[in-house]
Amino acid sequence: MALKKCCPLTLLLFLVLGQLALAETRVRIALQEKGSSCTVESEAYTLKATAGAQVLRKGQGQVTFRPGFPEKDVMLVPASGVFTWNGRGYRGYLRVFEREGKLVAVNVLNLEDYLAGVVGGEIPADWPGPTQRALAVAARTYAVYLLGDPRDSEYDLVATDQDQVYAGLDGESFASRGALDDTRGQVLKGADGRVLKAYYSSSCGGHTSDSEPVFGPEVPSIKGVPDPYCAGTAGSHWSRSFPIETVRKRFAADGKPLAKITSVQVSGYDPSGRMSFITVKDDQGHEYREKSQDFRRILGYRELRSTRCKMTVKEQSSRPVSLHFQGGGWGHGVGLCQWGALVMGEKHMGYQAILRHYYRGATLEKI
Ligand SMILES: [Zn+2]
Repeated sequence: MALKKCCPLTLLLFLVLGQLALAETRVRIALQEKGSSCTVESEAYTLKATAGAQVLRKGQGQVTFRPGFPEKDVMLVPASGVFTWNGRGYRGYLRVFEREGKLVAVNVLNLEDYLAGVVGGEIPADWPGPTQRALAVAARTYAVYLLGDPRDSEYDLVATDQDQVYAGLDGESFASRGALDDTRGQVLKGADGRVLKAYYSSSCGGHTSDSEPVFGPEVPSIKGVPDPYCAGTAGSHWSRSFPIETVRKRFAADGKPLAKITSVQVSGYDPSGRMSFITVKDDQGHEYREKSQDFRRILGYRELRSTRCKMTVKEQSSRPVSLHFQGGGWGHGVGLCQWGALVMGEKHMGYQAILRHYYRGATLEKI
């Protein structure tokens, strides 16, 4: 790296300025993407046009935006630096704009303030310090990656588990702030020196997943590893049944019509124990071969908790009547496993050890 050629003072300046720049980096977080209205509250605020930042009016208290409101794209800037949306406090300001007749609400704030709301949104404040610090680095790394490859032209990330759960001020605590301060500027990089898209999930169920089958050929990729730490924690084992009519309805809602379902088959398991493909056929010649993560999306992420499961088909008169799944883990299973990281933290393993375990081959660097 070119840094090695710098004199110590230049290097120090570079590092300090680099960290300042990262701390002051602004992120754009979509709180809602398709709202029919948007209500914001602030003791005192200034409403500005997003283009040109012209002041439109000053006000206080509650303001409700609806599609078709006179100003199509505005920024509500609270005098105190804090506003309330949907009963929850947020730092920074809120941009509200109309898109295809719906309202998009985007919270713009400093990266580290955002991350404080993520660490506390993702895991409880009473989880151990190493776990908090490991998640702080993973969340920062994921966000920095998305800053370079935003989810949308108008925002970088969304505030849900589609990206990272962002709880605003509710997520802030001594634990989340402390973890971020202790790891300031630190991100994970792959072997090629590029920032990792540091996915993480609630529980891997005993073996994390390669990133490639779940998210496609990400570069750098994340490799699955056996995880002995999350065994026996909440959600490490579950079972769930779906009546076949529910499966038919969920496929139809996804634009895949089915008549009478005649068979549902799993073809192949990957090395982490996750189903590869599921094929559903009916008596009218329809046939859908779904990647397991698409099958999970169709059935519902919260109902089929992971693809690390075994499926059995209950039949009557040679026709499937229900699908039964016995599985482990909750979530896509790529990268850090939060419940495993909890156990590692309880065993006083350092956050660097936690990150090394889940992001094998990645290096921890300050940017
Ligand atoms: Zn795990």
